Amino acid sequence: MAASTLFEKIWTSHVISDLGDGFALLHVDRHILHDLNAMKSLVELRERGYAVRNPELTIATPDHGVSTLPGRNIDTVPEGAALLRGYLEETRRAGIRSFDMNEDGQGIVHVIGPELGLTQPGTLFVCGDSHTCTHGGLGALGFGTGRSEVIHVLATQSIYQKKPKQMRINFNGTPGKGVTAKDLILYLIGQIGADGGNGHAVEYAGSAINAMSVEGRLTICNLSIEFGAKVGMIGPDDTAYDYLHGRRFSPAGANWDRAIAHWKTLPTDAGAKFDREIDVNVANVGPQITWGTSPQHVISVNDVVPDPATAGDAARRDAMNGALDYMGLTPGQPIAGTPIDWVFIGSCTNSRISDLREAGAIARGRKVKPGVSAWVVPGSQQVKQQAEAEGLHEVFKQAGFEWREPGCSMCLAANGELMPRGQRSVSTTNRNFEGRQGPGARTHLASPSMAAAAAIEGAITDVRKMMV
Ligand code: SF4
Repeated sequence: MAASTLFEKIWTSHVISDLGDGFALLHVDRHILHDLNAMKSLVELRERGYAVRNPELTIATPDHGVSTLPGRNIDTVPEGAALLRGYLEETRRAGIRSFDMNEDGQGIVHVIGPELGLTQPGTLFVCGDSHTCTHGGLGALGFGTGRSEVIHVLATQSIYQKKPKQMRINFNGTPGKGVTAKDLILYLIGQIGADGGNGHAVEYAGSAINAMSVEGRLTICNLSIEFGAKVGMIGPDDTAYDYLHGRRFSPAGANWDRAIAHWKTLPTDAGAKFDREIDVNVANVGPQITWGTSPQHVISVNDVVPDPATAGDAARRDAMNGALDYMGLTPGQPIAGTPIDWVFIGSCTNSRISDLREAGAIARGRKVKPGVSAWVVPGSQQVKQQAEAEGLHEVFKQAGFEWREPGCSMCLAANGELMPRGQRSVSTTNRNFEGRQGPGARTHLASPSMAAAAAIEGAITDVRKMMV
């Protein structure tokens, strides 16, 4: 049998019908809904005379629109209350399991899938959210869908897709001090550009990936869409199996043994071909920080803001000038030392327990600079409970951070939690687009430890100075 890739194996095993010209109808194993798309999609489905084909394979949770204020309830954000009530009514009516606000299991869709054991190697996992590529960190084939596709999946438990090309990115070597999964993936995007993965399913491999925790792998895969790759994935191994063992919806008993036997067949075979391969020596990577309005606008924290005059063409030069104007920065200025107003530690990129431990290690025994608003928003109820069991909430609160309830919050600011115009944040999120954290708000992307260091310093700073 010809050598095959992880992507190829999962794709092939999910084809219901080959439609020609590279298109196929694929079976969907898991479909997760969130509060921004559930109500409208379910109402439209019903009005068109369909029922949910497989409610038992459909999961829902409110994350984008919920308040993260401690003590929250459905009316904390009055503008969103009708949406949340509609979400509850429609998921109940459709017989879909929802992990409701303040219920164990609630959280950001891409945090709860893995932690509940719903995301499993070899599964095809979709959600109406572009960061569904996150689930590839456990060897699933995950990708985001548009609204009409959400309705198609609800009605048929299948999806029509064009098969992408395949790319492998090999991260080899040992990361230096203060360099995290977030730094590696931001560095890659800076190297290959925001369109460097267009039209490809990406597999991450190499010694640095092999040595990485599952939570780091989820962070890596989360940003795949930020360089145009709809799919990012990593071959399952013992690290993935250990992570999944004993989780709420993981296989158990004899089913666990059967699952492991299947999962072991999934990794890419030696000699399998990719359309493109990229090698990254992680020893060359320092802690990263974005300076502009795209994740590709990224530099090491000790670099200076780039000069648009060095751009290769007029379009790039104009884009860089526009980004610098929006961000209020000057070419040639050191990025370190830029004063900030906000720090946001959260989102489906960096709100897991290991992220909070990293940030907590910097915050411990220190104080947030007066005048800086610093928020920690755990990615899920489970993350929050674990952090509180470890006393991390007290570490953050004593340092002057706000300790909040799980949700997307200031990643998208869809729940009204936004940064005032003109203010500047360091955020652990995945998008620094204009207006992403509020109209006129300026966002610098970085790792959790870099964000915590910025909160203490009141400015963008090299976290390594604060590391023992
Ligand atoms: S945390 Fe941000 S990127 Fe992730 S699902 Fe929520 S809004 Fe989307």
